[in-house]
Amino acid sequence: MHILVCGGAGYIGSHAALALHRAGHRVTVLDNLSTGHAEAVRWGPLVQADLLNPESLDAAFTAEPVDAVMHFCALSLVGDSVREPYDYYRNNVTGSLNLLQAMRRHQVDKLVFSSTAAVFGHPQSDLIDEQHPTQPINPYGASKWMVERILQDAAAAYGLNSVALRYFNAAGAAPDEGIGESHQPETHLIPNVLRGLLGTGPQLKVFGDDYPTRDGTCIRDYVHVLDLADAHLRALTYLASNPGHHVFNLGNGEGFSVREVIAAAERVSGQTVPFAMESRREGDPAVLVASSERARKELGWAPSRASLDQIIGDAWAWHRAQPF
Ligand code: UDP
Repeated sequence: MHILVCGGAGYIGSHAALALHRAGHRVTVLDNLSTGHAEAVRWGPLVQADLLNPESLDAAFTAEPVDAVMHFCALSLVGDSVREPYDYYRNNVTGSLNLLQAMRRHQVDKLVFSSTAAVFGHPQSDLIDEQHPTQPINPYGASKWMVERILQDAAAAYGLNSVALRYFNAAGAAPDEGIGESHQPETHLIPNVLRGLLGTGPQLKVFGDDYPTRDGTCIRDYVHVLDLADAHLRALTYLASNPGHHVFNLGNGEGFSVREVIAAAERVSGQTVPFAMESRREGDPAVLVASSERARKELGWAPSRASLDQIIGDAWAWHRAQPF
């Protein structure tokens, strides 16, 4: 199949493009390169276009007929979304609507959408499944939830077939292929730990050790970006025989604390991670862990790189080389 990967120059999108290529699909990447990297577009041509400029999208659909779209384009910094909600709704919601309308113009009826655990808001249980209430607590999570809602309505009105994948904490890299996580600014824990170690970023700050968890630091569900990419391939196959709109949570189902992440980084690197203990970061729940039972059952998905040491090991190899 020919897959249009919107946001394929970004972290998760570039790994999905790699997985599609390895599975024998043809890939075209559409990206405005605002946060993505041209160097990460390696498995098909790049169409530099912006979802906020609807006319610019047609070029991506006309060069070669598109069989399905994967959509990773988004602004994704929670703090920024609180300060600049208009930017987030415009980019993430209006941009997605423009893409959906372009798909409709070009009669493309299959979409895999990049969603997030942020659609849930404050967790009401330690293990979050798809039935957990969706009450996002920031504009980023709300913008992703609005697109999910649009996809439900589009299934009913236009017969759009879609899967929304709600990622928990994406981590790791594909160092042998020269792609990995490169955000500016970087807000995520694992890259901040590793950049602190390498001296390519400031010393790590740990945001709070007074949470009601086993060691006082927050617990998260880290899932390897290549396992996420594999779930996208499976979602594509699933859509062929399951019309309508579907949602799946994607995580390892096991949580690790910030201190456990630091300990794993020390094992992997053989170095001590210096850090400063800070107060809590606003909006961080104590524990966020996915139940991915539905993805396991319906998609036949299971993380194959589930160990924290492997996830951090791949991220470490990438950060040491970091070509971009
Ligand atoms: N965290 C931290 N220092 C950092 C970045 C993150 O202590 O430099 C903590 C953060 O408070 C949270 C966990 O690490 O408890 C994971 O944060 P991240 O931003 O990676 O992902 P999130 O769960 O917020 O999506």
